Amino acid sequence: MSQLTSHIEQVAIEDLVKTYGTPLYVYSKASITEAFKRYQDAFGARKHLICYAVKANSNLSVIRLLADLGAGFDIVSRGELLRVLKAGGDPTKVIFSGVGKTREDLRFALETGIHCFNVESEAELYRLNEEAGKLGLMAPISFRVNPDVDAKTHPYISTGLRENKFGIPYDQAVRLYEAAHQLPHIAIKGIDCHIGSQLTELSPYCDAVDRMLKLIDALKEKGIELEHFDMGGGLGIDYQGETLITPQTLVDMIYEKLGDRDLMMTMEPGRSIVGDSGYLLTEVILTKENEGKHFAVVDAAMNDLIRPALYESWMRIETTQASDAPVHNYDIVGPVCETGDFLGKNRDLALSAGDILVVKQAGAYGFVMSSNYNTRGRAAEILIDQDQAYLIRERERLEDLFANEKVVSFDER
Ligand SMILES: *Cc1c(COP(=O)(O)O)cnc(C)c1O
Repeated sequence: MSQLTSHIEQVAIEDLVKTYGTPLYVYSKASITEAFKRYQDAFGARKHLICYAVKANSNLSVIRLLADLGAGFDIVSRGELLRVLKAGGDPTKVIFSGVGKTREDLRFALETGIHCFNVESEAELYRLNEEAGKLGLMAPISFRVNPDVDAKTHPYISTGLRENKFGIPYDQAVRLYEAAHQLPHIAIKGIDCHIGSQLTELSPYCDAVDRMLKLIDALKEKGIELEHFDMGGGLGIDYQGETLITPQTLVDMIYEKLGDRDLMMTMEPGRSIVGDSGYLLTEVILTKENEGKHFAVVDAAMNDLIRPALYESWMRIETTQASDAPVHNYDIVGPVCETGDFLGKNRDLALSAGDILVVKQAGAYGFVMSSNYNTRGRAAEILIDQDQAYLIRERERLEDLFANEKVVSFDER
């Protein structure tokens, strides 16, 4: 039988649903804080920078909470930089990753004065040098190097293999650093890699560190000294009983390999900071049986949470209270017109219409990947602090979904 989840911190889910409706994303402040502190504790007194990967959950209040805890931020768009500024984050702790930064993106980040650009191609390097030149600035850079290691995760979230689009090829790194060294508006700061997401084994990280340290040493021999070494993000969370690597294990492994090299360690964790903190609450609209197969049709759909459809992710789904209804083996599906629209399959649950289901570990890559497909408004978001619930994003109103559209009339042509 499945577990029950009736409260988030000290707030009853029943009350949240009554006040804010469903579908509803709810995050726990204590859980985010604890997850961030695990990284801080792992580094201890050692010089470091933890740049939370904003794309995992970019709500302004989540950014603000992490900024208050001392986080820097890893961003992948100009929009995310604007969010960090709006939330009161420190731009001098921002790292800008991404394979497709436009000239406008580069200019905005240069003018803002961010900590570092993670350059992902030769073309980007020359563009950045040009744009910095026009502004009379120096662009701080590290290259995102593709260490060509297998992260042993789902192919869609594996990013460190030769065939992935991310980063510069390993065997071109020395040549590109030498080229960068000659450019008048580029300041070399560090080196970066990010090999994938939802990693549950240490060995890919070990391989990546070994490969990166070899590069760092080769660069030093050429007279190029780096200030920081960024190992990216990627630590997995427990969706389905996975054995996990802790930040402490990862950080200890890195420092052991670093030896006496004097580098500031940087990390870009996303999922492992916010994933566990989040819950998606949804109401059962009705149950139905087709040819012996039981379905629970709920009011959250793939437009609210696309992870099951996109990555074949399994996520815990629990009820909020015991029920006398018969237990069936349900597929939990949404109202969207796609067969891929499901939150979970083959779940033994006792359900009736009107019951609330809780999808757990929904704090990362949940709301941020939601869409308006089927003209469905996106869910509201709530942040819980002990016994208090704060509305941190209003539910979208249906009229707003087409407010930017125009009806073209061809009558008078
Ligand atoms: C997505 C991403 C991260 C965060 O990955 P998680 O698996 O959520 O920790 C870090 N760095 C870069 C460059 C990313 O694209």
